[in-house]
Amino acid sequence: MKLKHITDNSFQTKKLGESFAKKILRTQLKNKAQVLELIGDLGSGKTTFLQGFAKGLGIKDKILSPTFVIMKKFKISRNSHKSRNSPKAFRAFYHIDCYRIKKPKEFLDLGFKEIISNPKNIIAIEWSDQIKKILPKNTLIIKFDFIDENKRKIEIDSC
Ligand code: ADP
Ligand code: MG
Repeated sequence: MKLKHITDNSFQTKKLGESFAKKILRTQLKNKAQVLELIGDLGSGKTTFLQGFAKGLGIKDKILSPTFVIMKKFKISRNSHKSRNSPKAFRAFYHIDCYRIKKPKEFLDLGFKEIISNPKNIIAIEWSDQIKKILPKNTLIIKFDFIDENKRKIEIDSC
């Protein structure tokens, strides 16, 4: 099921990302990493959403548009979880931008197989269609549509 949201500014998009992150922290770990696919044109708000998302995971670092960096890893602190010290908790957040990726193989060379098979990882991928072939089936899809300068439609798979 998809939940549809309209945001009127980037702050609201960040807030939406933040509450979605908190929801994900409350879910059970699966047998693989939790993958989020962010689909939408340039400027539709994917990175903005992830800035709020990272905040919701308790990450203090700034999330930038990784124009030159393909993949960036952030630690998720134990304090971010409801049940502290739970051994079954997410530990790392990977922000990936495939805009510049030509072939999935470039990705596998970055050690992607191991990253994706670790249930303690949350992986958010912008322009994921570029590496769709190597993604697991049960990803959560978040779709972004530009409505006007400040309005975006954001559809989120329920988790
Ligand atoms: P993407 O990662 O999809 O290319 P960004 O998040 O980097 O997009 O950029 C979105 C741009 O649109 C930012 O400059 C942001 O300030 C602006 N913006 C305006 N309104 C919104 C909104 N409702 N949600 C998200 N971004 C918005
Ligand atoms: Mg972006």
